[in-house]
Amino acid sequence: MKLRGSLQAGFVAMALGALVVALAAIGVMLHQQQRTRADVLALSQRSMHALAAERVVARGEAISVQLADALVNPLYYFDLDAMGSAVRNVLQQPDVVYVLIFDPSGNVIHDGSNDIDAYGRRMDDAFAAQAIAARGRHMQHDGRLLDVAMPIRMGEQRIGGVRIGYSLDSAIADESAMAASMGAHLDRIARRDLWTIGAVLLVLVAMGTAIALTLQRRLVRPVRELADAAQQIEAGNYAVVVPADGRQDEIGELVRAFDRMRDSIARHDRDIRRIAYTDPLTGLANRLALREALDMRLLEMQGASGRLALLFADVDDFKRVNDTLGHDVGDEVLIRFTARIAAAVNAQGIADALLARFGGDEFVVLLQLPEGSAQDLRRMAQTLAARLVEDVSQPIDVQGRDVFLGISIGITLFPDDAATAGMLLKNGDIAMYHAKLAGKNRFSVYSLAMDQALERRVHLEHELRGAWERGELNLVYQPVIRMDDGGLAGVEALLRWEHPELGAIAPSVFIDIAEQSGLIDVIGPLVLEAACREARHWQQTYPAARSLFVSVNVSPRQLRSGQFAAEVEAALAASGLDARHLHLELTETAVIGDEARIGELLGALRTLGVKVWLDDFGTGFSGLSHLRRVPVDGVKIDRSFVADVLRDPDDLALTTAIISMAHSIGITVVAEGVEKDGQYEVLRDRGCDLGQGFRFGHPVPARTFDGQLGAAGSPRTHGT
Ligand code: C2E
Ligand code: MG
Ligand code: MG
Repeated sequence: MKLRGSLQAGFVAMALGALVVALAAIGVMLHQQQRTRADVLALSQRSMHALAAERVVARGEAISVQLADALVNPLYYFDLDAMGSAVRNVLQQPDVVYVLIFDPSGNVIHDGSNDIDAYGRRMDDAFAAQAIAARGRHMQHDGRLLDVAMPIRMGEQRIGGVRIGYSLDSAIADESAMAASMGAHLDRIARRDLWTIGAVLLVLVAMGTAIALTLQRRLVRPVRELADAAQQIEAGNYAVVVPADGRQDEIGELVRAFDRMRDSIARHDRDIRRIAYTDPLTGLANRLALREALDMRLLEMQGASGRLALLFADVDDFKRVNDTLGHDVGDEVLIRFTARIAAAVNAQGIADALLARFGGDEFVVLLQLPEGSAQDLRRMAQTLAARLVEDVSQPIDVQGRDVFLGISIGITLFPDDAATAGMLLKNGDIAMYHAKLAGKNRFSVYSLAMDQALERRVHLEHELRGAWERGELNLVYQPVIRMDDGGLAGVEALLRWEHPELGAIAPSVFIDIAEQSGLIDVIGPLVLEAACREARHWQQTYPAARSLFVSVNVSPRQLRSGQFAAEVEAALAASGLDARHLHLELTETAVIGDEARIGELLGALRTLGVKVWLDDFGTGFSGLSHLRRVPVDGVKIDRSFVADVLRDPDDLALTTAIISMAHSIGITVVAEGVEKDGQYEVLRDRGCDLGQGFRFGHPVPARTFDGQLGAAGSPRTHGT
């Protein structure tokens, strides 16, 4: 707008300026012409005057000489008649006003009249004195009258003179008539010039207008169109066209250059959009594209009765692939995964299903049913989720090795569960999380209860931070006894959380939260060191506890941190506990999957002298054969088997098998959850090495255990 105004205003100002200058020039010219006219008129008047006067003078000269000659004799002889006829002859000539013959003293002798009234009168007019005194021809005039005097001589003697008076009136009249005609002529010329100048001015104005219009059409308009187009392009409309009209001039070149620039911007924009909206690894739509597509679809469905299902999928333990096999393998696995997911989605046969990679190992599938569709979207989503779980859990062959991975999927529906994209994604995430908590490699459908459970979990996680520092977390110790003589062999350290408002929170709950949130990385080493210090204290204080071991639970995440061996060493060094007296309890799930790496770690721990036990043995799916591959020092038979060992012959058989199998490969067997004497006796008879359970002692705080040790004085016996 500004550009438009200033360019046009500039042109108008320039045109007006030129007009003013032209008008001023014309004014000066006219003024000059006027002066010239006056000069010419004056000059010509002067020259005409001179011409007329000259004519009269010439006539006067000639006639005065003739007359003076002709009058010599008549005057000498005083022949008045002859004088009279000569004078009258002259008087008849045009412009002659008077002819006077006079004697040497200036008295009139003849004036051409019959009775010569003036005879003998002395001439006393204005010219008389000089005329009388003249010795040769003498002329004088007063503007209206020319007086030519000529002496008349007889030989050398002046006998008189003659004066001829000419009227200059006719000359003057001629002169002014000529001046008038000259003036009229000059006026005509001036008028003609005025017309010419006017015409030139008109042409100039017309040309100026034409130039202004041309500039407007050929320069201002294209520039304005370019400015408008630039605005359009700025707003993202690349379809805008500025016609070059086949022009070959600079403007045409500019317009073509502009078009090229627009095309290039559009191309770059497309490229940037493509880059911004696609995931480079898998080629799927990325998070941004998903968000926009979801927003758009929800917007389209507003008011309509269309429905949408969102599947939020997260690969289980994908981090492990990256950590153990490297990121290249991780990438490859993701690409294979993508292909499988895409194949499953395609096989489902839902038109415009959208598959996007939401994050590192997160995928989102959008399924949409149009308005009025009779299909059951929830069922469709569940079928697809089940299929994805099934397909994805098949082993993937990457670089010659089988990788087993699962996937957890959360399903949420629009408009049932949420109305906005953000809420739908959050619900999908919550449902997915729920599937993870429920054991991974499965799907779950969002419900409001999940939301509340998650809220509680998030709250607990928040509360768990700093709980150790606030003294809310404490260790309790449960004795582990030798089955044969009932003597105290060691203790298991078990973590307790006493929340100031919520009360005691079950370890199964908060350990899981600590594990999932990563807080275990902080708490784990603290537990390890505290347990080691306590055990060392008992060893040093009570003779009965001199060779007591402490058994500490280690979660899978701690094991995979890469720092674990160093943490154990640090705890031992800080407490002064002999490595032999530290037992680490690992669950089966912690050691399966990546035997090579875990085997290496366990090897390193055992080199330190630390003993490794498999906790909750029998509940996992590793089986007895697994024991051969993982170097452990003992197994703790899960209390679910021990509980039924008296009633269920199968459990007794399994327990017996575990004991003999363990002994055959030289490892210790611990029975957990021994509550009854009968259980104790059966297990002791089967050769079980160690036992733990309420029959021998409940988990108690360190001070309480201190008291028990002090009171015992000698190794406690439980069995006999
Ligand atoms: P776990 O290692 O198998 O611990 C033994 C669990 O059995 C303890 O439950 C203990 O109180 C209970 N128990 C002992 N004797 C009997 C009995 O005769 N009958 C019955 N019914 N139960 C008995 P708790 O303390 O609730 O611990 C639960 C789980 O929490 C532990 O299972 C362990 O896996 C985990 N945990 C506890 N403390 C820690 C810790 O410091 N770090 C880690 N990573 N996990 C821990
Ligand atoms: Mg344990
Ligand atoms: Mg256990």
